[in-house]
Amino acid sequence: MSASENVLQCENVSRWFGGIHALKGVSVSVAQGQIYGLVGPNGSGKTTLVNCITGFYPPQEGRILFEGRQINGMKPHRIAAGGIARTFQNVALFRGMSVLDNILMGRHNFMHPSPLASLFYPWWGRREEIKHRDKVEEVIDLLQLESVRDEHVDVIPLGLQKRVELARALSAEPRMLVLDEPMAGMNQEEKEYMVRFVLDAQESLGLTVLIIEHHMDVITAICDRTLVLNDGMSLAEGPPKEAIADPAVVAAYIGR
Ligand code: ADP
Repeated sequence: MSASENVLQCENVSRWFGGIHALKGVSVSVAQGQIYGLVGPNGSGKTTLVNCITGFYPPQEGRILFEGRQINGMKPHRIAAGGIARTFQNVALFRGMSVLDNILMGRHNFMHPSPLASLFYPWWGRREEIKHRDKVEEVIDLLQLESVRDEHVDVIPLGLQKRVELARALSAEPRMLVLDEPMAGMNQEEKEYMVRFVLDAQESLGLTVLIIEHHMDVITAICDRTLVLNDGMSLAEGPPKEAIADPAVVAAYIGR
C-alpha cells in the first residue's frame, strides 16, 4: 500500500517523560477504513502513542501525518476538529450532566456562535441547532442510548458510560476514531455490545479505527491489522493472529 492511501502515518515517533523513554522510534501506517489494533503489555507505550497522535503529548521526535497533513505539534482541539475523535482509558464524561448533554458536547467544534449572525439572521442559529440535534439523534439511535438519554451519566452502569463516550466521539463526525481500551472493566455482555457498536460505527460511517485493547479475542475478531508494542518499541506488525503468534510477542508476554 502506498503512503498516500494511509489515513494515518506515524514515522519514527519518540517520546520521553523525564528519564523514561516511553516510545522509541515507533512507525505505524493505518489505511482508510481499517480497524487497527494496538496491543502490548502494560507500560509498553500504547497510550503514549495515542496521546502523541491526538496531541495530548506531542512526540519529541518523528512525524505524524493524518490524511497526508502533518499534525504533530498541533493542539488536541485542532486535531479533533481536523477529524480525529478519541475516547479515554478511564471514562471522561461531564459529571452531573445528562447523557444527551454529554453527547451534545461532542459537537462543540461545530458551534461557532456569531452574535452578528444570530442578530441579523435568527434562522441561521436555529438551522445550526437543528443540525446538531439531528446528528446527536442519529448517534443515539446507532448506539441504542434512547432509554437513558435523559439520565445523569453518574448513575448509569460503566458499560453504558463507555457507550456514551463513544457516542460523544461519534457526534463530532470524525473520519478517524481512536479508542483507548473501550472494553476495560466490562462484563461479557457489555463487551459483546461494544464490539457490535464499534463495527456498526465503522461500517455505517466509513470510519478508520485505531483501538487499544487487552482482550485478544476482540483484537482477532475485529482488527484488520495489529501493532504489538513492547518497552516502547514495535515488536510485531501484521494481521492480528500472525502478529500475536510471533515468537518475540509470545516471549514478551510470557516473560512478564
Ligand atoms: P501502556 O498504555 O502500554 O500501558 P503507557 O503509554 O501508559 O503504556 O506508558 C509507557 C511508559 O511511559 C510507562 O513507563 C509510563 O509510566 C510512562 N508514562 C506514560 N505517561 C507518562 C507521564 N505523563 N509521565 C511520566 N511517565 C509517563
